[in-house]
Amino acid sequence: MAAEPRYKRVLLKISGEALMGQQEYGLCGETVTRIARDITAVRDMGVEVCVVVGGGNIYRGVAGAAAGMDRATGDYMGMLATVINSLAMQNAIEQQGVPTRVQSAIPMEAVSEPYIRRRALRHMEKGRVVIFAAGTGNPFFTTDTAAALRASEMGCDALLKGTKVDGVYSDDPYKAQGATKYDELSYLQVLSHDLGVMDHSAISLARENRIPILVFSIVKPGGFAQVVGGDGQYTIVK
Ligand code: UDP
Repeated sequence: MAAEPRYKRVLLKISGEALMGQQEYGLCGETVTRIARDITAVRDMGVEVCVVVGGGNIYRGVAGAAAGMDRATGDYMGMLATVINSLAMQNAIEQQGVPTRVQSAIPMEAVSEPYIRRRALRHMEKGRVVIFAAGTGNPFFTTDTAAALRASEMGCDALLKGTKVDGVYSDDPYKAQGATKYDELSYLQVLSHDLGVMDHSAISLARENRIPILVFSIVKPGGFAQVVGGDGQYTIVK
């Protein structure tokens, strides 16, 4: 059982790839359910939780551009991919008995609420998990930047970035022997050493708004609750 939460309100950023499980593409139902359980555990600690989901498991604008597609069009397709993932996440969290709302930065009234900041805050106060879909709503951005933006708007105490590894390393721990993990980094260290935690606009936004970023493994069941409880493995950027 995780300890007392360190944070009152957090934003969880999950990349689309984290939802693929062992697959090479798309959504793995088992993995989505497992992450939904992890989110439920944190919400059951009395923490207000909002989520930004990426779309890289389905489509990325840069990949479209590399194949000759207009970049902005590709990016809109990428944003639509995040809506698909957000609906899957919503379904899985609600199956755990937790009320949710999806708010999309691109209005899509038949499938979600539009993004309305004050309404999102109210949902969270009522214990609903709010999932922000469609990134920032603008091409040429990423869902990492959307996560930093929404965390700032929501007044979150922390932005938790769930990745495949349990923190930020000096090199790719899967490829380089002797890669060492950082326990703590400053925003400026991440920017100047280009450490690849999140893109630069996301880091800058978090820095300006003094939101710590905790990088942890979303692959490890229960890891989210441990990190919010102050335990577990992570790197903090602050
Ligand atoms: N995207 C965008 N604007 C945003 C957020 C996302 O245009 O504000 C598009 C972009 O094409 C991106 C895709 O959506 O490649 C999927 O998002 P991202 O690559 O951030 O997903 P992740 O890597 O987290 O799975």
